[in-house]
Amino acid sequence: MFQRRMLPASSTRLGYPPLSPPCPYPQPKVWVAIATRMVPRQTVLSCGVGLVFTGNLYPAQRFRIEVPTCSNERGAISGLLSALRTVATDASLVIALENRAVVAQFTKRLSDNVASGWLATGTLAPIYRAAAAALTRRSLGTQFVPFRTHALHVEALSQANAARSLPPRETVATTHTSLALRGRPLATLTQGSAQLTLIASQKVPERKSTVTNIGLAIQAAGDAAGVWPTPARVWSSIRSRDIHRPTREFLWKLIHGAYKVGAFWLHVQDHEDKARCTTCGGTIESMQHILVECTAPGQKLIWELTAELSGRAGTAWKIPTLGSIMSSSLTGAAASAAQRRDFGAQRRQRILISEAAFLIWRLRCERVIQHENDPAKFATDQEIVRRWRATIQRRIRLDLQFTNRRRFGPRTLSLASMRATWEPILHPGSDPPPDNWWGGTGFLVRIWDGCSESPSGLNDEQLAQESDSSSREGA
Ligand SMILES: [Zn+2]
Repeated sequence: MFQRRMLPASSTRLGYPPLSPPCPYPQPKVWVAIATRMVPRQTVLSCGVGLVFTGNLYPAQRFRIEVPTCSNERGAISGLLSALRTVATDASLVIALENRAVVAQFTKRLSDNVASGWLATGTLAPIYRAAAAALTRRSLGTQFVPFRTHALHVEALSQANAARSLPPRETVATTHTSLALRGRPLATLTQGSAQLTLIASQKVPERKSTVTNIGLAIQAAGDAAGVWPTPARVWSSIRSRDIHRPTREFLWKLIHGAYKVGAFWLHVQDHEDKARCTTCGGTIESMQHILVECTAPGQKLIWELTAELSGRAGTAWKIPTLGSIMSSSLTGAAASAAQRRDFGAQRRQRILISEAAFLIWRLRCERVIQHENDPAKFATDQEIVRRWRATIQRRIRLDLQFTNRRRFGPRTLSLASMRATWEPILHPGSDPPPDNWWGGTGFLVRIWDGCSESPSGLNDEQLAQESDSSSREGA
């Protein structure tokens, strides 16, 4: 919620001692509008920032910032810092910031931020602290006002758009030395919060593979939806309840590059041979190879089965890449409102792609670790089809269980969501689908009507048991 609030002329609320008294003479008010626009289709994220001031005193500004974790918030806070450094400190400043998250940090969350040393703002804390220090140097009040359609704001938006084609510039979060307060006030310090502050002050370098993989995931999601998610959005999407817990864990490790495959083994004495895929003539393995390239039984067939299932509902199918698998939990989530209408199809794609990739990975581990690459023990096509079908049936049954409001309360999956997700593939072309089709017991087996017979000759009952056992394997 936007709050219009005046920052006090006295700087004590920001955690600093009061500065010189305000100027007694009326000063002209300077208005500044600050807008940001992310640059689409880039592996390293960047953001264009535009600032426009009233009057002729200060020319409009535009610049582009580029960092791996760039976001509109980072752009907005950089714009604010630039405005605070531009406008004379004895002028009364009115700020129209497009980004409400930044405004909220300086208004309703101000007290908490000051008490915690801006810890909650994460990697943006140094710039927030610098902006807070710059605000305290102002002798008159500074006001935040809503960013509405107004000539000044429109001009700021066009500056931000134009800034996207400029060479990148760095935001230097230096603070006036006398105001360079670090840490947190003793009055509000507890043992727990002190520990959190200490942990936050220790720099943990990000894994190289994580940065590369997040870039791949963002690029794939951006290519698919035309909207570029932030790294934080990718991580939060993995926690989506649409993805089954073991699959979530798989995606998390996949993005972190936590699985020990391929090049990892080249550096382990006496285990160098584990780096290569024996089926593919000694190619160095990688998750990319395992999930979308390997010729060993499983990879190609499972994607074909997934494409068939997805195609039943008329959903467009693209051959997955490592990036699209890593961003599969984001399908539709990063889309614009207009694209988000087909909720069921997007939820189905999220589930199908992540489950397919996870099954390919499980089959690979069984082949390489359990069966030690013995071709005689490779899974047959029939077994793979059966495993895939069981995985999907189990997933649909889970969704059905999640519609039980008495059991799951606020976490219940709505019946409408469940139907929108599975009806198009369980009852393709039947309009309307049978009433209460989810009420019976044998409805799942009808998914495979028209497909080749259950290869192993298992009946429905055995298929159901099989699906349960495979779910335990995956857990
Ligand atoms: Zn291979």
